[in-house]
Amino acid sequence: MIDMIKVPAIFLSFDDWWEREWVKYLPMLADNNVKATFYPCIRKNLGMPILDSEEKIRDAIRPAFWPSLKEIQAQGHTIGFHSVNHLKLSFLIKSIGPQNLMKTEIHPGLKIFSENGFKLKHFAYPFGNYSPETNDALLKYFLTIRTIVPLEIPSMMRAYSINDLQKTKVFIAFDIKYPGWQSALDLVFKKQSIGFFFTHNPYDSISELNELFYSAKKHGATFYPMSALEA
Ligand SMILES: [Zn+2]
Repeated sequence: MIDMIKVPAIFLSFDDWWEREWVKYLPMLADNNVKATFYPCIRKNLGMPILDSEEKIRDAIRPAFWPSLKEIQAQGHTIGFHSVNHLKLSFLIKSIGPQNLMKTEIHPGLKIFSENGFKLKHFAYPFGNYSPETNDALLKYFLTIRTIVPLEIPSMMRAYSINDLQKTKVFIAFDIKYPGWQSALDLVFKKQSIGFFFTHNPYDSISELNELFYSAKKHGATFYPMSALEA
């Protein structure tokens, strides 16, 4: 499938707990020929108590969660995973170890998604926070992982080649709410390459999204969901 990707290409994704907002913007994505990836987490907002049992996780599932995600998937977008509680995994793995990390933040989520018909193959790090240890633990269960360009190091933005996509499992994406994202996008077009961009609630990034879609159209770029990276 990676061979089929045409450059320039953009992998756009949406994170967190905005499934009710995401569905409202599906027509806008369709109008712009955009296939994207959505990475929900289960705990909604960082002020809520930590979900530390399967029962609490099930109780925390929002009414619109499954219908929204099913609608999104039915339109050809990829549903990925953003962990149960949205914690900084590089710190968590140090304190509880890889097995307990998977047991609390990943496995119950995969189980509940699977019961609802979703096979999650792609992961995005909460806060973009990761380490070689978290990569090792997660790549046993996911085909790809997405992290983020740190605001203080915008030069970490990568413009990937097709060859890079064959070898890479951990991709670094630019937040379209960060200053400098347009330069990152220009680099993708200039190098005829592949860029990863993300945001959260489309409502809050509507002008950036419109700018991204306009620019992509002007440069003949194609939007792909993460499922395009599956064999
Ligand atoms: Zn997040």
